Amino acid sequence: MLERISYRPLDCESLPLRLGERAELLNPLGPATGWRVREVGDGNLNLVFIVESDKGSLVVKQALPYARVVGESWPMSLDRAFFEHEALKRLGARDPGRVPDLKLFDPAQALLVMEHLTPHKVARRALIEGEELPRLGEHLGLYLARTLFRGSDWSMPTAARKADLALFSGNVELAGITEELVFSDPFKDAPLNRHTPGLEATVQAVRADRALKIATQEMKARFATCAQTLLHGDLHTGSVMATADDTRVIDAEFALYGPMGFDVGVLLAHLWMAFFTRKAHRPDARAAARAGDQLLATAETCWRVFAVEFSRLWRTERAGILGGRDLFEDQGDAVGSEAVLARHLDTVWRDALGFAGIEIHRRILGLAHVAEFETIADLGLRATLEHTALGFGRHLAVNRRDVNTVDAVNRIARGME
Ligand code: ADP
Ligand code: MG
Ligand code: MG
Ligand code: MG
Repeated sequence: MLERISYRPLDCESLPLRLGERAELLNPLGPATGWRVREVGDGNLNLVFIVESDKGSLVVKQALPYARVVGESWPMSLDRAFFEHEALKRLGARDPGRVPDLKLFDPAQALLVMEHLTPHKVARRALIEGEELPRLGEHLGLYLARTLFRGSDWSMPTAARKADLALFSGNVELAGITEELVFSDPFKDAPLNRHTPGLEATVQAVRADRALKIATQEMKARFATCAQTLLHGDLHTGSVMATADDTRVIDAEFALYGPMGFDVGVLLAHLWMAFFTRKAHRPDARAAARAGDQLLATAETCWRVFAVEFSRLWRTERAGILGGRDLFEDQGDAVGSEAVLARHLDTVWRDALGFAGIEIHRRILGLAHVAEFETIADLGLRATLEHTALGFGRHLAVNRRDVNTVDAVNRIARGME
């Protein structure tokens, strides 16, 4: 898609030489001779550098032509930097202040320069370390409502909406990764899968679980065919950076049109996985109890704030293709549009539960695992907690039509441990 002739991956030494003339870095940082560069990428795919000087700091993120997690044997298109940039622009416009400020996009080098979030920590790490993030649920609930509503047919007019659908349809490689690594591999014997020793019987049970595989197939159909809104597409707690009073969403390279419940469900899944593992990271029982209460409260707040904000936008900003005021409000019927809203929120909720259940499976049985489990040194304990989380995830995916509230899910989580 883009011209790549001059693409070369950066390293700490070459970065000042290669970017030192760019005004977008030079102005805030001063001359490149004074830059200090370190590589901090901890993700699965890309290079991330922090560039600091006495004047300030910036982050440079560059795509690699292969998947970092696997190596050069898994070639990957550099176009994901383009999609990340396009997505971050839209997400930032739809919920201002919730993504890093963007300074520069260089398509040839597949790199993005953005605000250095500091003293923010990756939310996953902060939660493992027992930091309290009292605004996390509220901020992410608002973010989800605003980005998911404003990227949808309820908000956007026909031409812009179709153009965006077409644009993000180009992000096929990452869509394909999700289709395989999330919705297929974890439920069968696939070469990239791995699991904790001791979990073999559970793995076999998952692969033989027809009801779970039917639910997975249904959710994959939702993901692949329901182009409801522009999703972040990878909204786990590792794609969130936070302090006690600020929350930012990063790493939007998986953006694509899909069902609203996907972003919601993936995020909630990671809060629930943090709940199931909290005791393993806290020897003190009272600290563990408090962390458990807070994680479940964060999930609850996130969903409730999402529903309230989404409803507010529905009532005040419904102007797109699916506006529908002509059918209801304009004819003096305020009840009809509320009924459509209630049905829509119900669909998002059922979808979120289904996607949450599948996300838990893929993080325990698939390729990309999460630190909540991976850093538990006692493998027996890790396998036990993974088994519990899988049972919980199965319950959500299979029974998503019968679990009606976030309270009910939280009670199920407490009941299963
Ligand atoms: P990947 O796509 O490879 O997962 P991410 O965008 O998630 O890359 O970034 C990887 C890591 O780099 C994050 O976990 C975080 O530690 C750091 N990082 C990324 N963007 C920023 C930023 N704007 N400010 C501070 N740190 C960042
Ligand atoms: Mg990441
Ligand atoms: Mg991480
Ligand atoms: Mg990423």
